[in-house]
Amino acid sequence: MNVFGTVKTSINTREAVEHYGIEVNRYGKALCPFHNDRHPSMVVYDDHYHCFACGEHGDVIDLVAYLYGLPVLDAANKLIAKLKAEIDSLKQEISDYKSVHSKLRAAELERENTELRGKVRSYEDVIQRNNLWRFFHPHREKAVTRDEAR
Ligand SMILES: [Zn+2]
Repeated sequence: MNVFGTVKTSINTREAVEHYGIEVNRYGKALCPFHNDRHPSMVVYDDHYHCFACGEHGDVIDLVAYLYGLPVLDAANKLIAKLKAEIDSLKQEISDYKSVHSKLRAAELERENTELRGKVRSYEDVIQRNNLWRFFHPHREKAVTRDEAR
């Protein structure tokens, strides 16, 4: 696919029209930038626009070429650059989200771990206070017995 095809399939004409400051109303119509339009005469679709007053018709590349006074190839490249910037910023957002998410997960695990260690400690306190080690660790009983024997 060449640069024109890439732009046409990946950039929505209506979104681009709005991005370049042309308001599209709820009927999908906009004030036509190609003639002195007082009532919205240009219908904007996802892949092209058509003005019912002056007959202008085209896709997102034609629009950008007209708005910036550029040859269509330059307009297409301008749109590709814009698309690439958007993709890069989305990728950055995703990686930011991932790092935040893993930090949150690490904090959560740390908290769970602390809770578990606390539980273990409180069980051990009960065991210690009531001298119940012999029921859990038979070898400890021997140690205690040896201590008591001294
Ligand atoms: Zn027009």
